[in-house]
Amino acid sequence: MLLRILSFLLSQFAGGLLGAWQAGLWGSLIGMSLALWLWLAWDVWRSARLLAWLRQPEMGDAPPLSGVWGEISARMRRVWRAERQQTTASEARLSEFLAALQASPNGVLLLDREGHIEWCNQTAAAHFALDVQRDLMQSIGNLLREPEFSHYYASADYEHELLLPGRDHSPSHPVMLSVRLHPYGEGRLLMLSREVTALQQAEAMRRDFIANVSHELRTPLTVLMGFVETMQTLALTESERHDYLALMAQQSQRMRNLVQDLLTLSQLEASPAPRFDQWQSVEQIVHQCAEEARALSALLYPEQKQQLQFPTAAQLAHAGEIAGHPHELHSALSNLLNNAVRYTPAMGHITCTWEPLPDGSARFSVRDSGAGIAPEHLARLTERFYRVDRARSRESGGTGLGLAIAKHALQRHGASLQVHSTLGQGSEFVVTFPAQRLRFEWSISGEIRPA
Ligand code: ADP
Repeated sequence: MLLRILSFLLSQFAGGLLGAWQAGLWGSLIGMSLALWLWLAWDVWRSARLLAWLRQPEMGDAPPLSGVWGEISARMRRVWRAERQQTTASEARLSEFLAALQASPNGVLLLDREGHIEWCNQTAAAHFALDVQRDLMQSIGNLLREPEFSHYYASADYEHELLLPGRDHSPSHPVMLSVRLHPYGEGRLLMLSREVTALQQAEAMRRDFIANVSHELRTPLTVLMGFVETMQTLALTESERHDYLALMAQQSQRMRNLVQDLLTLSQLEASPAPRFDQWQSVEQIVHQCAEEARALSALLYPEQKQQLQFPTAAQLAHAGEIAGHPHELHSALSNLLNNAVRYTPAMGHITCTWEPLPDGSARFSVRDSGAGIAPEHLARLTERFYRVDRARSRESGGTGLGLAIAKHALQRHGASLQVHSTLGQGSEFVVTFPAQRLRFEWSISGEIRPA
């Protein structure tokens, strides 16, 4: 500032001196006023340069100004630099924040006060078939036209989430979305969406399962109660009592089987994956299952016996070992064998084989000459409580859970279950155990040879 005053005074002094030298007192006054105008013009020119620099959209180098204008430009430049650094840092934070929202497995949509989409991540775009660029600043009400959503959006009551069908939803391929709006800022809304198809299906399965279990338990219980009431109210002969008690025992057994299968299922779901270092002899498992199948067959068909064929002792002696849970393996294989016995009529044929395959895996198969299964049932056989012939299943003590247990137990051991069947000719259930769960003794020649 001092410099500015000094420069002004100096210009006046120089103008006055020059004017006085040329034309005396009047000359000095004219010289001073001329010097004043010149000084002002020089000052305006310098301020105009500063203004022109400030008006630039991108601040480049400051004009080389001295004095007060130079100081103003230097200070402006410092303020601008600090602001630019702050803006860059804020932009970096914003883009990190948006990247985090982008990475979210949930759909995220930001709506302004009028319900226009300000931003949305790819998941939300996929959920609602939006175009991230084209649909920006479009009204959400125009893009999501489901009446449930319009009603939910207009209600301004966002305490609960809304279930909406996804864009690819169809009865055969359900896709369900859960949508919830969260108010924030001044009248803005954060919209979150997530796919809940699997959750919904699990919930529906849980409901079906409970309904099925209740139904399965209620039926024998109702029969039992009927017999109890009859025995309490009627005077029965000894033979009637005997018959009734036999029927009651049958119903109790049915309930016991069901409870037992339910326990097995829940154990399968709760227990850790079968270990790889717990080796079970194939011979022992198959032998035990064979004994049980023979006993069941003798019980069901005492007169006209079925023909049951199992791997010979010599074949089984070289069958090696399976890594896994003994009870689960036994339960899976015996279910297949018992089903073959139960669904094959008297004098029918059942053949069970164990066959090591060249790649180190092995096949266990059960083939029967029973009624067979129509193709439309095959895919659903391993569903819980799914039965092709309900009466036949009940008659032979079935619970509808046998194949579900077998499939679950086999899957836990990395084994696959395939069913081939021809209606009227019989069925074949094939289990393939993976090589990493089998142990064979290696022959000297390097060939795989059963232990
Ligand atoms: P269940 O206790 O009723 O036998 P499963 O889960 O073991 O239940 O089997 C499901 C259904 O599959 C059975 O009800 C039966 O209709 C059919 N099934 C299973 N094994 C055979 C088979 N070997 N031959 C014909 N049908 C079978």
